[in-house]
Amino acid sequence: TSEGEILGSLYSKGIKPDGVQKLSKEMVKMVCKEYEVEVIDAAAVRVEEMAKKKEMLDDDDLDKLEERPPVLTIMGHVDHGKTTLLDYIRKTKVAAAEAGGITQGIGAYKVQVPIDGKTQTCVFLDTPGHEAFGAMRARGARVTDIAVIVVAADDGIRPQTSEAIAHAKAAGVPIIVAINKIDKDGANPDRVIQDLSSIGLMPEDWGGDIPMVKISALKGENVDDLLETIMLVAELQELKANPHRNAKGTVIEAGLDKSKGPVATFIVQNGTLRRGDVIACGEAFGKVRALFDGKGKRVDEAGPSIPVQVIGFNNVPLAGDEFEVVNSLDIAREKAELRAEYLRDERITAKAGDGKITLSSLASAVSAGKNAGLDLHQLNIILKVDVQGSIEAIRQALQMLPQDNITLKFLLQATGDVSASDVDLAVASKAIIFGFNVRTPGSVKSYVDNKSVELRLYKVIYELIDDVRNAMEGLLDLVE
Ligand code: GDP
Repeated sequence: TSEGEILGSLYSKGIKPDGVQKLSKEMVKMVCKEYEVEVIDAAAVRVEEMAKKKEMLDDDDLDKLEERPPVLTIMGHVDHGKTTLLDYIRKTKVAAAEAGGITQGIGAYKVQVPIDGKTQTCVFLDTPGHEAFGAMRARGARVTDIAVIVVAADDGIRPQTSEAIAHAKAAGVPIIVAINKIDKDGANPDRVIQDLSSIGLMPEDWGGDIPMVKISALKGENVDDLLETIMLVAELQELKANPHRNAKGTVIEAGLDKSKGPVATFIVQNGTLRRGDVIACGEAFGKVRALFDGKGKRVDEAGPSIPVQVIGFNNVPLAGDEFEVVNSLDIAREKAELRAEYLRDERITAKAGDGKITLSSLASAVSAGKNAGLDLHQLNIILKVDVQGSIEAIRQALQMLPQDNITLKFLLQATGDVSASDVDLAVASKAIIFGFNVRTPGSVKSYVDNKSVELRLYKVIYELIDDVRNAMEGLLDLVE
């Protein structure tokens, strides 16, 4: 059906939409019925999308949404230039605004980016790396809107580059690649782009959807281009929140300050936080005594996406905890107690291994599913191996298995021992970790034991393949 036909039919009914006039819901329904098309309620779709993105929005917010700045995390392999990039941006885009002002690390900072004569804001989390990102996500927090993956042009894709990409992808966070150190002898940015495309990150120039910017963080070359790209990607994200309501958000950093007592840095994700507000925050609660911005200056309020340091709690909350403003201290206390209780239960559940995804639970789900004619979906896999060659060998063998009931999805395949951040990725994405000829450091082992995650270590490839095949066929008979 062409637009003209629909307009014609509307005109014949005496309705004259002119591109400005909106059709009422009733009219839309009527038109859709006439042309036998399905009505999609855009507002409802938006709510669903937001629920997917786990933004802290309620139905009531929908007609009061306003744009909010993007929150970014910089990730990448060690020594590829994350800190240098953060430092350059902070020095040139934050301190410059207030000469002589000393920036205080509060865990995140606000950056002003001039674009087309207008100043736009974005917010960088101060702890670079996928470890912090993964740890927050494993705790259920979602703060980052865009991930900047830094890859050194003289070194290319390394294990932590792959890990960072896996974390961002699993979180569904859009990726921008900064190809760094282009000033160095031996830098080969085009080679890096080639390699990235071969692992599924297709640059925009080649028809893909991943913006890639070649920079020198040390010299500041093209960093403005990178910031502009960030703002463009942010615009496409349509990041919104309702500033006209009680604040909600996430703790990104917390600790005990000698003079201030318990302090925490919040990223406000919805609403506006004000001095005097009563908050419940993880297992802590209190009344906001003072708010400080990234320059250590007292402020009266903080709106959506804005990082702010807060004092006034009874206790130190944890990074990744959610906070919300409530009506009274009694309610705040009650919420904190409920949260403590919930966490206790969760720890008991994790210890008992309840609710975790395991190969044997998968096998029994498959055989039950077969009998019940159910359709099972997907097994998320994190694969850590000794050498690069093992990745392809194992991956190919696994991919040859018939995937009628269950498809295999590789969240991460990398060389190196199993790390805490692998465990976080597994927790947040309900994945099983397979290790081949790798070890698990003691600290990581106890971390695994405290989480609902299955870690399986192998020394023989076909045993790994057999276990997965049997699980996928509902036949696994494992001695656990
Ligand atoms: P991080 O571990 O990813 O945070 O890496 P750093 O920011 O600490 O950088 C590691 C090293 O690379 C430092 O010696 C930096 O000075 C250097 N470096 C970072 N960016 C550049 C760059 O654009 N060009 C050059 N030549 N060196 C850089």
